Amino acid sequence: MTFAKVLVTGGNGFIGAWTIKYLIDCDYEVLATVRSEDKAASLKARFPGLQTAIVNDITAADAYDDVVRDVEFIEHVAAPIFYRGASDSLAEFDAAVAPAIKSTLNILDAARRNGSKVKKIVLVSSIYAHMSPERQIKESGLVINEKSWSPVTREQSSAPDAFPLDAYGYAKAEAERQAWDYIAKHDDVKYSLTTVNPVYVIGPYLIPQPQIDGTVGLLLPLLTSAEVPAGGLYVAYVEDVANVLVTALEKDAAAGRRFIVSSSGFVSNAEFIESFARIFPDKKFPPLSKELKEQGTPELATVDASLVTELLGIKYSSVDKLVKAYGDMFFGPYGGTNKLVKA
Ligand code: NDP
Repeated sequence: MTFAKVLVTGGNGFIGAWTIKYLIDCDYEVLATVRSEDKAASLKARFPGLQTAIVNDITAADAYDDVVRDVEFIEHVAAPIFYRGASDSLAEFDAAVAPAIKSTLNILDAARRNGSKVKKIVLVSSIYAHMSPERQIKESGLVINEKSWSPVTREQSSAPDAFPLDAYGYAKAEAERQAWDYIAKHDDVKYSLTTVNPVYVIGPYLIPQPQIDGTVGLLLPLLTSAEVPAGGLYVAYVEDVANVLVTALEKDAAAGRRFIVSSSGFVSNAEFIESFARIFPDKKFPPLSKELKEQGTPELATVDASLVTELLGIKYSSVDKLVKAYGDMFFGPYGGTNKLVKA
């Protein structure tokens, strides 16, 4: 039996592909948007029977007008993840953040005008909509939860001392803010909105990439450096994110809510390496750096991601589960490097 039809934007991306897998496993009919025929072909090779549509300019006002017509649910996943730091001008900054913001408003607007069957839209936002990790993570008394919003402004995000992820973070926060405003301003909106706001998402690729990149690459320094560097990560396992995205369509309690997704809280690089060594006893791992050995338990802000369990009933995956899946990818198709090893 096949259930309702779901539109997934950015279906070929890391999180998009896992979302499609979870939807298909739950018997949904899926229509995925991608930017090119090549990307559609590689997605269809992984998911036979998947429907695809090409949307190559997500900032165009009519970008989603056709693809929303026949669907009941929308998972809006597409957005660029980029690092930049200072901007030359506010105009240049605005151009960089436009795809995330405009595409979000475009899909909400298309669904309102053309999507008579659309019941729910789930927007992939980010922890950056709740906070600036770079500025706030060391505030040990701070609790970040559903009600928190990032205090970082457009001016700070484009200033000479901006952090590399400030512009991306601003784009995600502003896209989400404007999405809630849009819903509040339009009385004729017939669907509900939910946002899913992960910390750094890690896991294996479903669609092989030429090299391990983006947030999937954040664990590489642990496996490929001469010494494991100091530090650690707030981490969300990609299957947990996909599970939240699909469950949010199914539970009415998700409507109007913002779900922070963080599977294991803060995981230090030492904890990651212990897990890798336990799960892959035959592999060699770099030694811990002196700084990491001396790191101790850092005093950090609390990122409260418990709503996922309370409202959606989802139990988070362990660090070991993530590490097993990641190691199987890294030592398998990638041959223990960040380059895909061709058969
Ligand atoms: P990927 O880069 O793997 O996927 C991004 C997807 O968006 C791809 O399909 C990409 O298409 C598409 N896309 C990017 N820019 C554009 C554009 N200008 N026009 C059309 N399509 C575009 O990233 P992730 O899967 O990691 O991220 C997916 C979503 O999750 C994003 O919204 C991101 O902000 C959010 N997120 C990710 C986190 C993470 O840790 N990875 C954490 C929190 C939120 P193409 O392949 O053609 O470039």
